[in-house]
Amino acid sequence: MYFSDLTSQDASKKQLLNLFSQNRVPHALLLSGPEGCGHLQLALSFAALLSCNNPQEYDACKKCSSCLKYEKFQHPDIHFSFPIHLLKSENSEISDHRRDIFVKTLIETKCLGKKSWYSAMGNENKQGVIGVQESHSILKKINLKSFLGGAKILIMWLPELMNLQAANKLLKLIEEPPEKTYFILVSDTPDKIINTIFSRMQHIIIPKMPLQHISVFLQQNFNLSTESSDTLANFSNGNLNKAIISHLNATSSELNISLFIKWMRLCYSRNIADTIDWVNELSKMGREQVKDFISYSLEMSRHCILGNFSIFNEQITQKEEKFLEKFQPFINHKNISEINALMNEAYSHIERNANPKILMLDVSLQFYKLLRK
Ligand SMILES: [Zn+2]
Repeated sequence: MYFSDLTSQDASKKQLLNLFSQNRVPHALLLSGPEGCGHLQLALSFAALLSCNNPQEYDACKKCSSCLKYEKFQHPDIHFSFPIHLLKSENSEISDHRRDIFVKTLIETKCLGKKSWYSAMGNENKQGVIGVQESHSILKKINLKSFLGGAKILIMWLPELMNLQAANKLLKLIEEPPEKTYFILVSDTPDKIINTIFSRMQHIIIPKMPLQHISVFLQQNFNLSTESSDTLANFSNGNLNKAIISHLNATSSELNISLFIKWMRLCYSRNIADTIDWVNELSKMGREQVKDFISYSLEMSRHCILGNFSIFNEQITQKEEKFLEKFQPFINHKNISEINALMNEAYSHIERNANPKILMLDVSLQFYKLLRK
């Protein structure tokens, strides 16, 4: 992500570029604005510029060794801090323990929202925290010498979720950082940042993103047509993340419904050879897709039950509706509780690293019986 990739927020970009060209970049900078305004993308682009070996007038050079490392999220002097679910049992106490999934989400979606981040960590409803262990980790990293000899940068996403103990540990560091060290904080709700931290920041407020810019971002980054991107933008309420996630969900539901239709036909016809092929295909898509598909199948089963009572959900696509019309009688009060139990169990087995091929074949065989109940 570079400034040139964000086709919006020109005034804020200009503010940042001016700070840079006039050599006035503060050590502690806060970019705040409503979710999906592009503040995280601006922070990333600014970090690329600050660490670039050959900065250009409006952007990082995108060619030097620093830029190349930055693009792959492998820059040793650009650190990330963000709220996580604190779970001692899963060795999740500092952001770096969740760095892989953070980076993966960021690469795939080119954005990050609080809800989708919590869901990526496995629990959409559990609030994340930046805790005191994370402050210790930041102190350690920032006090090291710069690996590449340039700037050291910490991008902290959602500093409003830092607890008091963690904030207190960081105060002195933010006040008197080592040379060429930059803290870039990115917040959706700056009024919730602990005051002692907030007061040490130079604050730039980023406005909501215009719908037209959201549409252009989708066209350029996800190859969407003007028509589809305009529709997504119109429903986004100026939240770029929302538009991106709607697009990605639609893509994934398109894949899931095709998989689901095929699977149910195989289970009904009890075609074991083709079921094995189908299971192999699904497993190749990776563990996350298998989990996503199981959740999707649960959701479809629920739609069948509602459909049996003539309750129709407006959120389903035409393709789903067409299939469910004929299929819904096969999932009913006689088998729904067993199907629910089977799928929930399968989900937790996949989470605990069960082999998806063996597991999904077993689930299919049980479905053979359940569909004939
Ligand atoms: Zn560069």
